[in-house]
Amino acid sequence: MLRKYDKNTPQEKLYSDMYSNQVYDYVIKQKEKYSKMNNMKMKINDVLKIMDNFIDPSDPDLDEPNSVHAYQTAERIRKELPDNKELQIIGLIHDLGKILFLFNEPNWSIVGDTFVVGCKIPNNVVYYDILKDIIMEHPDYNNSDMGIYEYGCGLDKLNITFGHDEYLYQVLQQNNDKHRLSEKYMNIIRYHSFYPWHTGGNYYCFMKEKDKGILKDVNNFNQFDLYSKEEKDFQITDEMKEYYNQLLNEYFPNELNW
Ligand code: FE
Ligand code: FE
Repeated sequence: MLRKYDKNTPQEKLYSDMYSNQVYDYVIKQKEKYSKMNNMKMKINDVLKIMDNFIDPSDPDLDEPNSVHAYQTAERIRKELPDNKELQIIGLIHDLGKILFLFNEPNWSIVGDTFVVGCKIPNNVVYYDILKDIIMEHPDYNNSDMGIYEYGCGLDKLNITFGHDEYLYQVLQQNNDKHRLSEKYMNIIRYHSFYPWHTGGNYYCFMKEKDKGILKDVNNFNQFDLYSKEEKDFQITDEMKEYYNQLLNEYFPNELNW
């Protein structure tokens, strides 16, 4: 994650569009639209290859092709946790939900930090001050802290802005019989862009006991999901390609429905 938020940049435009459009009804509509998983059938290895071609200047995650970020994240994990194959895979695939580009979704519906709709927008989301006028127009601006949700309802009851996190999580959920990833690791994907929660410290009132474990897992993962200048000369080697291709074949032997 670059996490650099300057004025008059593609990032500012992205968040401006996001705060204008990611409202409760939209989120519900998108979740419904993608619940059918009838867009394509494809092996996850092939989706990774397609990601070579996506560099979006407004994508706050990167200034490099998505596939480079994928291998880089996985390699950081592999170096530190050589035996944790599942976490390495998460590093490799965590952003593949960005394949939403292929289905013509606008970038404000794919990338960027996520937040909950149906309750108050926290005042420490990115660009809060700069985009205050737009945020004030959001239907949740005057909502109460808990809005439509109940205390301790659990994270999975929340409607979070739709993007690459929720989409890939749903892909994995609904193709559960076609891969070997466990729920624990799928949750990392679901909440990795949920900065207002995992880093901003908001929404704790909704957490169940098991969400504390998810928070730990997400924060642990987050240290690897970083843009790093020192590794600017990072190269995807043939050894890496072979290693991860094998790993993916092991955990994802079949095509998935996307
Ligand atoms: Fe991401
Ligand atoms: Fe990432």
